[in-house]
Amino acid sequence: MRFTLLGSGAVRNNPRRAGPSQIVHIGDQRLLFDCGRAACLRLAQQGESVEDIDRLFLTHLHFDHIVDVPYFVFVGWNNSRQNKLRITGPQGTTDFVERLIRPPFEQDIESRLGHGKSEFGLDPQIVEVVERGTFYEEQDIRISAAFTDHSKMPTIAYRVEAQGQRIVISGDGLPQDDFVEFARDADLLVYECSGTQEFLDQQPWGTWHIIPEALAELATECGVKRLMIKHLVIEDITGDLTAVDKMGETIRQRFDGEVLVGADGLVVDLGSV
Ligand SMILES: [Zn+2]
Ligand SMILES: [Zn+2]
Repeated sequence: MRFTLLGSGAVRNNPRRAGPSQIVHIGDQRLLFDCGRAACLRLAQQGESVEDIDRLFLTHLHFDHIVDVPYFVFVGWNNSRQNKLRITGPQGTTDFVERLIRPPFEQDIESRLGHGKSEFGLDPQIVEVVERGTFYEEQDIRISAAFTDHSKMPTIAYRVEAQGQRIVISGDGLPQDDFVEFARDADLLVYECSGTQEFLDQQPWGTWHIIPEALAELATECGVKRLMIKHLVIEDITGDLTAVDKMGETIRQRFDGEVLVGADGLVVDLGSV
């Protein structure tokens, strides 16, 4: 398995850090997790064609994680995606996608259909994951869901198991009680780390996110081999380019595994065992 962080940022329009998005390669299969600002641009920079990706998983419906979804759907349709696109997400995903694709783009769709474009590939299949556990088993890939506490929104963390390896990808938020069991012994845990306690205390949404010390404790409890931090909001708002490395250092002092500070395009190749 190969993991690539496409976007290490969040809400703010930081050119160094695209919105949340990451891709997992397992053989020929590509799994995209979240589709935030500039996700499709980052895919192109990685040499990936949008139309080659037909599995998209959304962690939650905050706009920073999903604003590139319409572009992802439409450019895939335009470029004749071969397989039907399937979008998996929390409760509300069906409504979100159905309202997003046809109604606002009615004129565009009619014009293309009127010039011979097939409807195939326009309407994604939607899967809503409303309870924890394994929901996907295809081609020796198993994907399971757990939930985090985040702004009272249904928010999913995904666990991908394949080729003897295990990657856990969080959305935003604080782990629920079952998270340690969910992420136990993961080869890679990719978790949001929006800012320090001091920083989050100053934000109206500060309680929605985990702090570096708690994340170090979580990674230790889970016994993960590597931890990557992402959703690095503190840099966006403070403009302090050293802030994220300091958070990484705080975690290293408390967690024995490898700590990776997220950057757009950062790759972790786990290989297969
Ligand atoms: Zn977010
Ligand atoms: Zn969020």
